[in-house]
Amino acid sequence: MARTQAVSLMYHDVVDGLEHQRSGFPSTDAAIYKLEPVEFVEHMKAISLVLRGKPDNALSLNPAERRASFFLTFDDGGVSAYSHVADQLDRLGWVGHFFVSTGYMGQPSFLSGHQIRELVRRGHVVGSHSHTHPLRMASCSPEELRTEWQTSVDIISEIIGARVRVASVPGGYYSRRVAEAASLAGIEVLFNSEPTTTVQRVAGCMVLGRYGIQRQTSPGVAASLAAGQGLSRIRQGVLWNIKKCLKRIGGGHYLAVRKIMIDKMRASHHVREQ
Ligand SMILES: [Zn+2]
Repeated sequence: MARTQAVSLMYHDVVDGLEHQRSGFPSTDAAIYKLEPVEFVEHMKAISLVLRGKPDNALSLNPAERRASFFLTFDDGGVSAYSHVADQLDRLGWVGHFFVSTGYMGQPSFLSGHQIRELVRRGHVVGSHSHTHPLRMASCSPEELRTEWQTSVDIISEIIGARVRVASVPGGYYSRRVAEAASLAGIEVLFNSEPTTTVQRVAGCMVLGRYGIQRQTSPGVAASLAAGQGLSRIRQGVLWNIKKCLKRIGGGHYLAVRKIMIDKMRASHHVREQ
């Protein structure tokens, strides 16, 4: 296969920090990934200054094409995808990829079926983010993996009246089995949370990494990631590998350590990146 490269940014909700429960998952852990509306505008503005052309659409990703792609992705299916993000992207004529955990659909802080249809009508891509958003997807049994992807794909396909071909892995817990199961459910492009630009092919599925954006991530860092500038990417890569080692020691242990790390980060406003 030709060596395809892709830079993908992983956003979540865009919501007033004081009311962060209004979009997406309500926990304070989830809040570190949520941007204020003004910050999000600044991020898009900064990216627009460095981007040549427009962000790409994963539905037209061609592995045979030797060029770098850039994708904007939004996880969890929080209602702010409809109330904030899409408006901003539409102003720029940009496409967003919105990944929905279908088990939460229709709850007040999550997208409804009508809103999902509207996003697609406006030219955005809606894909699966599993059905129940398991925190440790890679530890699911084969049957659980199959159900998570297939249920979610079926529900969204029914809503949008087209086959769902794109998905993202919840919680950052990726393994080859996760991609194989996604491929069986018809997924052709799967985003995980590995901070890498290398596109892998697993069981007929293209697997793309992503660079995570947090509340503390500055617009400049988002723009330098989008521009493909190495330093921000390398820093995320180093941190990710530390986390990966902790995950290998033990998933439950990792989640406990992660909570301590997040609490520390919250106590100290000096931390700018994940
Ligand atoms: Zn998620």
